Amino acid sequence: MKFAIQSRNDQLSNRLMEEAKGYLTDFGLVFDEDEPEIVLSIGGDGTLLHAFHKYQHRLQDTAFVGIHTGHLGFYADWKPEEMEKLVISIARTEYEVIEYPLLEVTINYRNLEKSATYLALNESTIKSSEVTLVVDVELNGEHFERFRGDGLCMSTPSGSTAYNKALGGAIIHPSLPAMQLAEMASINNRVFRTVGAPLVLPNHHKCVLTPVKGPDFMLTIDHLQLLHKDVKSVEYVVAQERVRFARFRPFPFWKRVHDSFIDSDI
Ligand code: NAD
Repeated sequence: MKFAIQSRNDQLSNRLMEEAKGYLTDFGLVFDEDEPEIVLSIGGDGTLLHAFHKYQHRLQDTAFVGIHTGHLGFYADWKPEEMEKLVISIARTEYEVIEYPLLEVTINYRNLEKSATYLALNESTIKSSEVTLVVDVELNGEHFERFRGDGLCMSTPSGSTAYNKALGGAIIHPSLPAMQLAEMASINNRVFRTVGAPLVLPNHHKCVLTPVKGPDFMLTIDHLQLLHKDVKSVEYVVAQERVRFARFRPFPFWKRVHDSFIDSDI
């Protein structure tokens, strides 16, 4: 089996990376950064986000697993002291693959035939390059609302525990193929109205944002942030592609939520 390792590049993560590489090679696995079947991410959730984007062109053939060298992560849920146990499992056992939904983001530009398409593992956010974001929100071809506020965040189910949660969005189990639109400080008064609650959209539904004021936007795709100029519209759907995680032991999603946000000692 071919493997690659993504490190956060701090001292501990780099040391674990060298050790894991040595063990896995001794077990007969082949280090291959171009076409790995399994990618071991060592660092935090952000490290796994980097690994995901590095290998997003071969999601069908790659499974991810994460060790955290800081606090417990949602994607990085193995402890550093469990590294040997994990590499033995990678080398010696058939692993279960768990698939999570992704978000597909398409940006259409004014006066241009071309569009840009991205996949997000956590979320995509949109903010104006000016002060207030003003966009028309369309759901499945029907006008829904005119949003005025700081920004909007469309998240995946596994990303619902990240930025979305800080915006008051619901936590969604990643077995549900859905996406969630959460508001960032919407303007709501007698003149301007938004729904004021997060919307959970199922598979095959489409959300389109059309600029009302200013065609330039700051868009994030997970940890990546870019200024997009002359934007005609931004489209969100649940992606057809899915991300695959290698599971060597049960660690139910709700237990991860509990251990991350409530209490990890009980
Ligand atoms: P990072 O790696 O430092 O991540 C920031 C924090 O988000 C870390 O504590 C990480 O564990 C946590 N996180 C990431 N994905 C998560 C998930 N799916 N569930 C629960 N927690 C998660 O920083 P980065 O590399 O820039 O990561 C980008 C991510 O940071 C974005 O995808 C976004 O979700 C998150 N973020 C959160 C906020 C917020 O909560 N207010 C603001 C900006 C960005």
